[in-house]
Amino acid sequence: PAPPRPDFDAALQEIAARVQPLLGQGQVASYIPELAGVPRERFGMAIVGIGGEVWEVGHARERFSIQSISKLFALLKALQHEGDALWERVGREPSGTPFNSLVQLEHEGGKPRNPFINAGALAVTDVLCTRHVQPETALVELLRKLADNPGIDYSLRVAQSERRHSDRNAAMAHFMRSFGRLHNPVDRILDAYCSHCAIEMSCVDLARSMLLLANHGELPWSGERLLTPSLSKRLNALMLTCGTYDAAGDFAFRVGLPAKSGVGGGIVALIPNLCGICVWSPGLDANGNSLAGVAALEWLTTLTGRSIF
Ligand code: GLU
Repeated sequence: PAPPRPDFDAALQEIAARVQPLLGQGQVASYIPELAGVPRERFGMAIVGIGGEVWEVGHARERFSIQSISKLFALLKALQHEGDALWERVGREPSGTPFNSLVQLEHEGGKPRNPFINAGALAVTDVLCTRHVQPETALVELLRKLADNPGIDYSLRVAQSERRHSDRNAAMAHFMRSFGRLHNPVDRILDAYCSHCAIEMSCVDLARSMLLLANHGELPWSGERLLTPSLSKRLNALMLTCGTYDAAGDFAFRVGLPAKSGVGGGIVALIPNLCGICVWSPGLDANGNSLAGVAALEWLTTLTGRSIF
């Protein structure tokens, strides 16, 4: 018999009440000027079950800038192309340094520690630039498919805003290229990278996009396989160890789910064989993770008793 349908409705209502005092706190990412204006007190959360059920609360249908959550999908796309050969280009250890740090690159021959720090995402984007004439569109199309929503796109304004302020990412890319680790022109890689970060999706879209990884690489509604079970497992493992910036250990401790966050205030997560999850609230903690978002996910696993452990 099927396991009983979880009552996420009650949990989401309770979570929304509990995070209320946190809304409006924290910082928004101001180094991307277009993001600085997003109201800090917004909060939305969505859970989409493997069978298609949707539970939601707050601003769960409002689109926001997915930012570093795009690194997960860029990695997924690059793994589809390269399989395990990708690990010659990028490592898979937590970095213990901020997401935009350059220091380890010098000691490690320009090979980024993992695909979720900016250096690693630039190496992954380089792969996509080699494989696609239009790497921007390639990722948007993947997300339209994963979210089952043909309306998904990136914001040109946010992409251009970040592109005009990408000195540090440019420095990182040039540095890696000096080690022979990037094969496409730096401008090309940065254009694609900034467009990927500027993709806009809602919590419901993103929660549905996580079902592929909750379902071992197969889209639950069509049975289409996009990843081998092994690569799906690897992506989940990387989210757990490296998905929430420099706080991945604390996040695993408090929440106990594979997750990926972005400076737009979104966090995606999943419970294997059960559901995809996304929470959004723009105010960030000192590590760059959504303050109310981390609290909400911690409440979710605490209240429902469901985690990967
Ligand atoms: N576009 C951002 C950057 O490269 C992504 C940051 C993030 O969400 O971590 O700085």
